[in-house]
Order: sequence, then structure tokens, then C-alpha cells
Amino acid sequence: MIITRFAPSPTGRLHVGNIRTALHNWMLARQGGGRFILRIDDTDAARSSEAYVDAIRADLRWLGLEWDAEERQSARLDRYEAGFKALHDAGRIYPCYESAQELEVKRKIALGRGLPPIYDRAALKLTEAERAAKDAEGTPAHWRFMLDHAEPIQWDDGIRGAQKFDAAQLSDPVIRRADGSWLYMMPSAIDDVDMGVTQVLRGEDHVSNTAVQIQIFTALFAAGFAAAESAAKALPAFAHEALLVGREGKLSKRLGSLGCDAFRERGIEPEAIVALLARLGTSLPVEPIADRSALIASFDLSSFGRAPAKFDEEDLERLNAGIVHQLAFDAVAARLPQGMDEAGWHAIRPNLAHVGETGDWWKLVTGPIAQPEFGDDDKAFLALAANLLVWGESPWVTLTGALKEATGRKGKGLFLPLRQALTGMDHGPDMGELLPLIGETEVRARLHQAAA
Ligand code: GLU
Repeated sequence: MIITRFAPSPTGRLHVGNIRTALHNWMLARQGGGRFILRIDDTDAARSSEAYVDAIRADLRWLGLEWDAEERQSARLDRYEAGFKALHDAGRIYPCYESAQELEVKRKIALGRGLPPIYDRAALKLTEAERAAKDAEGTPAHWRFMLDHAEPIQWDDGIRGAQKFDAAQLSDPVIRRADGSWLYMMPSAIDDVDMGVTQVLRGEDHVSNTAVQIQIFTALFAAGFAAAESAAKALPAFAHEALLVGREGKLSKRLGSLGCDAFRERGIEPEAIVALLARLGTSLPVEPIADRSALIASFDLSSFGRAPAKFDEEDLERLNAGIVHQLAFDAVAARLPQGMDEAGWHAIRPNLAHVGETGDWWKLVTGPIAQPEFGDDDKAFLALAANLLVWGESPWVTLTGALKEATGRKGKGLFLPLRQALTGMDHGPDMGELLPLIGETEVRARLHQAAA
């Protein structure tokens, strides 16, 4: 059974980047008939807020990404304590006493010597007595996970292919702060084990975290930590997506305007976002596909490219129009002008870029409309139209047929004055569909008025 998770930190609103991660994990789970877990990474109490948790849930619901279970890291602190103990007992965790300033100095020295700024493991060399002295001084310890330098860390990435890291080129990560609180690295691995996560799919900014976490997973398994029924017995599969960039490069500055609220306000449908983000950065064509099962069925990690994927708001607008043209009446009824029925929606839908524009077009049906001033020829033509109008099965076809025969007019000369007289516009919805909506009495009245 496939189990995926989306693990946002509730320290801000979701934006296109994490919406994409959520969507892909959701699709992966739905494709395999598996489970999609929403995991709230709220170990950073100071920066996390309940309002953001609510907003994340609301955004996922609006996008239609239902989750099968919700987990919260703040409710799982006893598990982290247990994992910490297991790793500590196994000799993989050690206390460190350097202040932030000391670490910064070490970093600068390393960089100055042209060396990578890797933690030098000075704390590992402290004797028992030196540690005891630090503790007695009241210098609180923070804790690092000791990477195993013996073997390279390797995995077959679902997107990036074979990955290989030399653990000696990585710093032993701090996993617990001096105040006892947890950093991201270990809780996430413990959660993935406990929740039986089978696929970890996230952005490529996490590639080096994966290298570290693979060692944490392995150490947890070796310590016999993964004992629970639901727990994973093997490493999850990992895949890292190339990041999203804007048309002009980095997205980071504009992320605030690229969230669900902003999209909704601009009249973007969730289906357009889903259709775009499902395939952006893959070799599959980005098309206005409203049918999620089609997107799910075609979702394929091997179609993902390694180059950054370009997020372009013009693509989103184009897809939005394509999606709006397919939306069923029931899906939009609540957002339509009062009195508008299914036939009205179908007539107007092809003209919309956003559902919110419906009202402007619906006014052509309900009136009043502003007709242009017609010349004498057109006035005579429109008077004739009023006379020839027969209200039957398809009044528009009958009327234009009769007018063509009577006047010899065709093309623009035939259709444009009629459209202008009946709608006040030069372009717009299909007249054959509009006429029955406007109704016989009003059609006659508009023709007479234009001819007068
Ligand atoms: N909370 C982490 C983040 O938002 C989760 C990363 C992960 O998927 O493991 O970056």
C-alpha cells in the first residue's frame, strides 16, 4: 500500500511551490489506491500558529486534495523522546556546547581556508570530565546526530536517479536544541517510520536532508525502534522535484501573491491550478484537463525533468479559460447571476476567461442593452428582420435564412447588424443559443427599437 505525506510547517500560507508538492503526493497516493497523510510540522512552537493550520486545511479543501489522516508533530513529542533515547543508547547522538557565535567563527575560519564549513566534531572529543564541567557550569547542551562516515549514502531517486553522498562532507546535524525542542530532521524520519510512509516526494532543497535522514532511518531500524504494527520496516522511496521558478527567475519574492486566496480572488479555478501543477516540469503536455482521474492516471515520476520548472501566470490564465469552458452548471450555479439557468450557462461559458465575468454577458440577455446608431440601410434591414421573425424551433437559423434570401446579404453584412441590435455588441455568445434566452417579445422589441 502506497502511503504519502504532505508535511507543511504552519508558519505561513501555502504557495504554488508547496501546493505542487501537496498535489503530487496526493496524486501518487490516489493513483496507487493508497493513503495521503497531512502532517503538520509544528515543532517550532514560536513560529507555528493555529490560524495557519486552519488556512492550510482550507486551502487543501478548496483545491480538492482530501487527506486520509492528519498528524501533528506537537502531539508526538513522546515518540521523538523515545527515538532520541534509542539513538542515544546506540551511541549515535552526542551533546555539544558551542554557542551560535562560536559555530559562526568556526564556519568563517573554514571558509577562509577554502574548506567546506563542516562541523568539526570538537564536542565529540570532549572527555567525560570536560562534559561534566560544561554541565556543571550550566552551559546547556544541544544534540547532534553522528553520521556514519564509513560508507557512502546512496539511493535511487525517483526523479534524479542514482544519488551518492559522502557523509564526511556533511555536518552532523543538530537534531535537538539546548531548550529541549526538536529540529526538523529526526522527527520527520520518526514520523515516516511510524506512519509507514512508502514514498517521500518533496522539493530538491531537501536532497541533502534525505542523505542525513537515510542514516537516521537506518539507525532507528538497527536500534529496533520501528516496532509498532503500522511502522515501516524499510526505507521509503525518495524523489526530489526540481524547484519552481518564475518567468524572470526566482519565485521567492512573489510567493505571497501565489497562494489560494490570491488565485481565488483573481477568478482562478482550483481545477486550473491542479491541471497546471500536475504536469508543470514534466514531459507531459500541460492542458486544461478538468478530469482529475485522467491527471492521476498519467502521473509519472519518470516524466519529471531535472531543470527548474517555470511557473507562468499566463499559462494559468490560459488553462483557467479552458477549464471554465468545461465547467458543468451544477459546479458553478451558486456563483451565477440569479435566474440564469443551464442553457444560459452553456451559451455564455465559451466567452469567459473567469466565471466572475458571467454577469456582464448575462446582461445581454436580461437587458437593457445599449444599441449603436444604425444607418438607413441597416434600419430597413432590421425592420425587415422584425417582420420576418418566426418563433419556432431555431428562430436564429430561420431568421437569418429568410433575410439572406430576401436581401442577398451574407457574412458580416447579414449577421453584424442583427448581433448589434440584439446584444449591443460586435461579438459574444452564439446567437442561436442567445435568442431563446432573450425570448420572443424582447427580441422583437429590440429589433423594432433598432429600426426606429
Ligand atoms: N516541514 C518540512 C518542509 O515544509 C517538511 C519537509 C518534508 O517533506 O520532509 O519543508
